[in-house]
Amino acid sequence: MQNMVILGATGSIGASTLNVVKCNHEQYRVFALVANTNVAKMLEICVEHRPVVAHMVDAQAAIELKQLLPAELAIEVTTGEDELLSLVSCSEVDTVMAAIVGAAGLPSTLAAVKAGKRVLLANKESLVMSGQLFIEAMQSSGATVLPVDSEHNAIFQCLSERNQLEIGRCDLVGAGVSHILLTGSGGPFLNSELSTLSSMTPAQACKHPNWSMGQKISVDSASMMNKGLEYIEARWLFNASAEQLKVVIHPQSVIHSMVQYRDGSVIAQLGNPDMRTPIAHCMSFPQRIQSGVEPLDFFKVGQLSFLEPDFNRFPCLALAIEACKQGQEATTVLNAANEISVQAFLDGQIRFTDIAIINEQSFKHVTAQSLTTIDDIMALDSQARQYALEAVRKLK
Ligand code: NAD
Ligand code: MG
Repeated sequence: MQNMVILGATGSIGASTLNVVKCNHEQYRVFALVANTNVAKMLEICVEHRPVVAHMVDAQAAIELKQLLPAELAIEVTTGEDELLSLVSCSEVDTVMAAIVGAAGLPSTLAAVKAGKRVLLANKESLVMSGQLFIEAMQSSGATVLPVDSEHNAIFQCLSERNQLEIGRCDLVGAGVSHILLTGSGGPFLNSELSTLSSMTPAQACKHPNWSMGQKISVDSASMMNKGLEYIEARWLFNASAEQLKVVIHPQSVIHSMVQYRDGSVIAQLGNPDMRTPIAHCMSFPQRIQSGVEPLDFFKVGQLSFLEPDFNRFPCLALAIEACKQGQEATTVLNAANEISVQAFLDGQIRFTDIAIINEQSFKHVTAQSLTTIDDIMALDSQARQYALEAVRKLK
């Protein structure tokens, strides 16, 4: 029996994780559920999954949850940053699903890594922000980090067992890998007239053709910033160089990514676009469990197609690739600026095309003195947020 903590339990990945747990309840137990403010959803999943602890980051939400939870369930309700860090690190916990959205997920994800837990990593932003420190923490604690992001999970599945056991320090060349082919659908605006992008609404940007996800990652998919963040994520997880990483647009989202080998072989992982597959894979690796996902029907799929990314259409992708080449400082700034610009777009303050403008301005202007600790990273993150907020104000 594995005891799990689900960070971001009320979100899209949280729901898919709880779904997989339900299919395999004899092997997994929900020890704790963690969310920000959504009391109604937290109440619903607490009643269904009966965790030992329910943690709300928002103190008022914790008070409300406590009042609403039936006393006979005996669920302990907690709040507070220190309480969250000790919750993920406590000895009863085996596995932590890291699925808080954005930079807010870094402290708890890193605490789980430092405590040597089995960490199922959905929160790509934490790796984009702190790459080197994250990997070093993983190596010194002996934590197992498994990639939930569907592309990275696919790549992981296509790598040799040797590479799978050396996440963060893979010797790709030694294993005969020539390229990692990171696939992406191109999102809802792949074929829209370029001139119409500036008037696209949040609802249009969030309408992903293949995947159902939270709002932030949906907007990131429309700008392909998501693929850029994933490019940086792949760089760290698989110790890959810029020469080894290629982005391939594959509109059907059936192939979730591929690994190309020196001898001409290409190994791909395929499946229906449903996050329960990579989640189940991470939960059970190296075994396999039921995920509840329908088997892929090749006769319904019919055709698979591939395109090169157009950086004119997707300037955020170009920016992220450039940031990855520049290093930690640039990726931290870009990630922070993007969280501000995406939120401003979702709030109706700026246009869709302004996201790339704000990201680029912040990326060019915000710099750090030194970047050796998590505190340095958090300071740079807030500096970039301030800059981006000012840029939003100027554009409004
Ligand atoms: P979502 O918006 O649906 O859910 C976000 C969750 O994070 C919620 O439970 C919310 O309560 C919690 N949260 C938000 N702010 C918080 C804060 N300050 N402190 C603590 N908790 C907070 O997001 P999602 O789509 O489930 O994505 C979660 C993460 O997984 C993101 O990093 C995303 O990039 C990654 N991811 C998601 C998908 C997907 O299909 N949804 C796929 C790959 C990776
Ligand atoms: Mg992905």
